[in-house]
Amino acid sequence: MKDNTVVTHAGNRPFENYGIVNPPVYHASTVLSETLEQRIDRSNAKVRYGRAGTPTSFALEEAMTALEQAHGTVLAPSGLAAITMALCAFVETGDHILVTDSTYTPTRNFSNGVLKRLGVETEYFDPLIGAGIAELIRDNTRVIWTECPGSQTFDVQDLPAIVEAAHARDVVVMTDNTWSGGYFRKPLAEGVDISVQAATKYIVGHSDVMMGTIACNEATYEQVRSSSSSYGMCCGPDDIYLALRGLRTIGVRMDRHFENGVKLAEWLQSRPEVTRVMHPALPQDPGHEIWKRDFTGASGLFGFVLEENNRDKLSAMMNHMELHGMGSSWGGYESLLIPSWPEQSRTATSWDVPGQCMRIHVGLEDPDDLIADLEAGFERMNKA
Ligand SMILES: *Cc1c(COP(=O)(O)O)cnc(C)c1O
Repeated sequence: MKDNTVVTHAGNRPFENYGIVNPPVYHASTVLSETLEQRIDRSNAKVRYGRAGTPTSFALEEAMTALEQAHGTVLAPSGLAAITMALCAFVETGDHILVTDSTYTPTRNFSNGVLKRLGVETEYFDPLIGAGIAELIRDNTRVIWTECPGSQTFDVQDLPAIVEAAHARDVVVMTDNTWSGGYFRKPLAEGVDISVQAATKYIVGHSDVMMGTIACNEATYEQVRSSSSSYGMCCGPDDIYLALRGLRTIGVRMDRHFENGVKLAEWLQSRPEVTRVMHPALPQDPGHEIWKRDFTGASGLFGFVLEENNRDKLSAMMNHMELHGMGSSWGGYESLLIPSWPEQSRTATSWDVPGQCMRIHVGLEDPDDLIADLEAGFERMNKA
């Protein structure tokens, strides 16, 4: 079935619960056995202890498995926890991993900090490397970490080419699929082994819950599930319920984020204050062809570069925005605008585009009002 049908129904079992449409929110730690026999045989019970899962968590896992076309999904208490749990399931001392240079900065911090301390070496690669990744794969390479498009600069990677090179050497390919929400892209159908999302963003969609999902193929699911369970990872039932509630409307929200985002990207491109717009759905974008091949749409998050990088002028613009909030995270219903400094995080490649890099999340407001807000901001900037 198509995505909008899947996200409307997947994971719901009303007739196991009085016909009530949504699954109940089970607050659980202890789960009792009725007889000694059941107690002794407990490891076979699906519901045996709060941390091991409840019908509430199973419902979200099942729905995400359907959306991501996966074999199984493991939940994590944040997007970052989903990333670290996926990586930790596959590496040990002496291993080597390859990570895209455009990755989300906390992923980089985890690799450079915790993984390094555990004796795992991280090597960063050019996000546009494609099939050239083959030359970087060593005998001890376990994982290739991708993110498409990359945080901040929105480079579009050739994942199928990376998968082909990786699988020839038995390397697990993981991708951070947060940008597409799992709605505009199906990495597992393209051969990627694990698709991680910060469900905090588009799955939850309302800026009120931290959550992560690790959608796995058959070859990787058991290892991720047992590793993450050994770490004691689990999520609160109210948060899971809100994630499920958000998921039901992801289709309509994403379609609107796409439409509004393109409208703002085109407007920004027409402005003299803006020297570059980084949005793969624009035909001029260097990643456009690969984006068109691998995605069915674009979310509301993209980048642009302001010619002006004078701090006072930027303050004049940013300090009085009416609709664009200044905050980390994205994927909620509301618009956000923040400056970013990609040159500060990259190591394998450089970012030497002059001007001030900005990251915008285009929300569900009327795009004309968002444009008016940005236009007023540019006027304040030009006058300062
Ligand atoms: C926000 C984000 C994460 C981390 O998610 P949290 O829920 O904030 O921990 C991971 N990857 C990307 C691309 C993100 O934007």
